[in-house]
Amino acid sequence: MADTKRKIGIMGGTFDPIHTGHLVIAEAVRVEYDLERVLFIPAANPPHKQHFQVETAMHRYMMAVMATYSNPHFFVSPIELERAGLSYTIDTVLELIEQYGNNTEFYFITGSDAVQELSTWKDVDRLLEVCHFIAATRPGCSYTLEDIIKHFGVKGCQRIHSLETPELEISSTDIRERVRQGRSIKYIVPESVENYIIKENLYKRF
Ligand code: ATP
Ligand code: MG
Repeated sequence: MADTKRKIGIMGGTFDPIHTGHLVIAEAVRVEYDLERVLFIPAANPPHKQHFQVETAMHRYMMAVMATYSNPHFFVSPIELERAGLSYTIDTVLELIEQYGNNTEFYFITGSDAVQELSTWKDVDRLLEVCHFIAATRPGCSYTLEDIIKHFGVKGCQRIHSLETPELEISSTDIRERVRQGRSIKYIVPESVENYIIKENLYKRF
């Protein structure tokens, strides 16, 4: 029987701001795994960034919408912004399963640096039961995915996959630094995001 499951990508992140690196890996995974759509989900309160200053969720959400609007397969979901407390991926995926129904396969898209931290994520065993992880190559990340897969045993083999993507040495941290120093961010972020950052005077303080 033909596989009739819907395949949905989830691109989680702080997106402070969203940049070309995020868009390129999301599109690469979408094409490779034949995903119907990719949901970009800005974290309201990222657990791993509690001690850092982060731009308001509203600005991060707005920039994600502007960066993705021209791709008919890309959507931005406010699901984590509407939930109080820390933004745990397991809560998000379980909520998405409720929304989309059981006949859906979820593919969580991450850079190779993020997947390296997977064992620290809340309810990671359960998480691996309910979604796949696609780790896109990211420059400067010295790790072997095999170690992480091995760490999770059979579930790791079945659920964690890597994908070679164009390696772009871009990070939100570098973009914030560039803005603070008055350096160009042209082509590192979409033009709409660049204009929004200038107009709203973002990243001048931290
Ligand atoms: P920051 O420097 O503030 O941590 P970031 O550039 O890492 O920002 P995040 O919002 O933290 O962006 O990342 C969201 C997801 O996108 C993570 O899974 C991260 O690994 C991935 N990612 C971000 N930039 C890249 C890139 N250039 N190549 C591959 N993956 C990336
Ligand atoms: Mg990061």
